[in-house]
Amino acid sequence: MMMVLVSVFGLIVGSFLNVCIYRIPRKLSIVRPGSACPECGHPVRWYDNLPVLSYLWLRGRCRDCDERITLRYPLVELITGLGFLAVFRVAPDLISGLVGCAFVALLVVVALVDLDHRIIPNSIVLFGTLVGLAAAMAVSPGLGGAVLGALAGGGALLGVAWLYRLTTGVEGMGAGDIKLMGMVGLFVGWQGALLTIFLGALAGTIVGLGIVAFRGGNRRTAVPFGTFLAPAAVAVWLAGEQVLQWYALALNGG
Ligand SMILES: [Zn+2]
Repeated sequence: MMMVLVSVFGLIVGSFLNVCIYRIPRKLSIVRPGSACPECGHPVRWYDNLPVLSYLWLRGRCRDCDERITLRYPLVELITGLGFLAVFRVAPDLISGLVGCAFVALLVVVALVDLDHRIIPNSIVLFGTLVGLAAAMAVSPGLGGAVLGALAGGGALLGVAWLYRLTTGVEGMGAGDIKLMGMVGLFVGWQGALLTIFLGALAGTIVGLGIVAFRGGNRRTAVPFGTFLAPAAVAVWLAGEQVLQWYALALNGG
């Protein structure tokens, strides 16, 4: 029952995240006005604005102008619902669960805004930083661990960016990625932050090389790094503890 509630809560939050992803980079209010069809401008009726369900019964088209609604809207809602579910399956208590959900929500927005616009808005990172600092007073990794995590995440990425520029002569990462990793470190601690960078860079490199191989272009423009750091950070929040334990075991020879 609890898990059903958590999933529905995730779907509803996901619906709001779609609004944030569209409006925040355009510097529009996320509260007003209500949603409207981007094609015909007709306000969306409340019963056409239900997560996933409305998309299904509208068969993916606007009721007024018949224009296609992007499949991304229900997908973001589903991913957020599943993310919240996963968070509550591993969270040791309610507060950790809510913090984890906030973390997932922030990163869903970061991943897609970076994908669309190649930017990570300061407002999102600043908001996440405030949430992260407040949360660290109540849950793992604690305030000290969080500050250390922020320094490690931001610092390590700054180092990687510097090395990348030194070896390739191009700016590989934006300041947005560095600030993002500072924020992520508040939630996952220093080891989690380093693991996030490793996983994000690995995934980004694989996909980036794939895109270059199939579509041409260069590595620099191929992938928005934040789009890979964000899911890596969620994975680390969910399972990083285990991964680090296995790693420690492996180092100690099993
Ligand atoms: Zn329309």
